[in-house]
This record gives sequence, C-alpha cells and structure tokens, in this order.
Amino acid sequence: MFWSRARRREKVKARAFPEAWEKILAEFVPYYRYLPEGDRAELRGHVQVLVAEKNFEGCGGLAMTDEIKVTVAGYASILLLHREAAYYPRLSSILVYPDAFVARAKKPKSIVGRMDMMDAMDFVDEDDGAVRDGESWETGAIVLAWKPIVEASTDPASALNVALHEFAHQLDLDNGEMDGVPALESDAAHEEWVRVIGGEYDALCDEVDRGRETWLDAYGAEHPAEFFAVLTEAFFMRPHTLQRKHGDVYAVLREYYKQDPAAVLPKA
Ligand SMILES: [Zn+2]
Repeated sequence: MFWSRARRREKVKARAFPEAWEKILAEFVPYYRYLPEGDRAELRGHVQVLVAEKNFEGCGGLAMTDEIKVTVAGYASILLLHREAAYYPRLSSILVYPDAFVARAKKPKSIVGRMDMMDAMDFVDEDDGAVRDGESWETGAIVLAWKPIVEASTDPASALNVALHEFAHQLDLDNGEMDGVPALESDAAHEEWVRVIGGEYDALCDEVDRGRETWLDAYGAEHPAEFFAVLTEAFFMRPHTLQRKHGDVYAVLREYYKQDPAAVLPKA
C-alpha cells in the first residue's frame, strides 16, 4: 500500500507544474522567491501532492480558488523541505474562511460528525466566541482565515503567519500528541529540544507573567504546543532576529527543519 502511494505521488509530481501556480507561489509565498532552484522544485512537488490529496473547502461564503489552495499548500510545503515528507498524514481537510472567524461557528457539513472529537488545544476559551485566524484539530482538519495570510505575504515586517502556525501544530501531531515536541530523530535531539526549547518556553512564560514586553508572540506562553507553532512562524518569517536573540533556539530548529532560513532570506 505504501509502495503504491509513493508511486502515485511520484506521478503527481511528474506532471507539469502550471504556470499560473508558479505565479501564485511567487506572489503569495515570499519565502519561495528566495529559495534556490533545487528547493523550489522540491517545494513545487510537495504542493502538487498536497493539492491532490487534501480536501480544500471554502467556508463562510468563500469560494475555493487555486490561489488559496496553492498558497496554503505552499506554506505547508515549506515545513516539509529537506525532510522525509509525510504530507501531514493525520490531516484530511483544510477549511478556509475569508477572514477571522468565530470559534465554534457552524462547521461545514463534511466534518460536523467529528465535532465531538475536536481537539481542545485551540479552544482554551472555547465559549467566549473568540475570533480566530486559525485552528488545528487532532481529528484531521485545520481552519484558516485567508485575509491574514495575504497580509502576511505582502508585509515584509510581519512575524506572524497563521498558515505556518497551524501546519506546525500538525507536524507536532505526527508523533501522537500536540505537546510542543514533534517527532525527533534521536534521544539526543529530544534531550536538546527539552533543554533548549523547554528552557526558552519557561523564560517566555516568566516574562509574560511579569508583564514584560516580549519579542516572540506572547501567545506562545499559552502552552508548549503554541510555543512551537509561534517559534516556527518566527523561524521562517524573522530568522535573522530569532538567530540574534535566541541563537540556541534557532540552532535547534535549524536541526529539526533541516533548513537555514537566515541564509535564504535577505537581511531586512
Ligand atoms: Zn495554535
């Protein structure tokens, strides 16, 4: 079965990449523009697989377009580069709202049956009707708002990217739990993760508790899983700053993602 799936994916990747999709990546995924051609080719292949295998659904009146699919798949693919891509095995649906949505708003019919199994992670204050830009569920779906993704793609100063954030949660899930520790290659890598990332998480919580201004999105102090998602955003959106301020954290993420965004993106 795995063999045939691998073969099917190779076939999908062998198809010509539509010129219109290339334009979409260049316009909405700034990181793509700076990658060397070998990485771009790898990323295009991942985009083809994700678009072919995942169910993209427009919500709240949003009509699904190639622009949205390719952009979202583009961000998801950044996190897969240079690694053995598992294509988010537990994720089946990507639901996109035009703009920020209210948590627990009426869900599309296709997933209503799974609502009772929804992960509580992004529903900490589930009944406050909080407006959100994204959610990740352990039961096979992520929910995104399109407008902030477009904004993040056009604002070079933006450190936030809800698409990277939610796909990082899905990576975190690969090894079972959304606990802020994704699948790591060795016990040594795991120890290093706990020491460096865990230590920095405690430091951020401490700063937030004291009411101090934090460079990292303070939302990262909500839970270790949020910390990993917020760090992933910073790693790919503001790598130079992350490297300067938290060199050891940057090094651990560079090891995990097998990428060096500070060497890819020009200094602002
Ligand atoms: Zn989150």
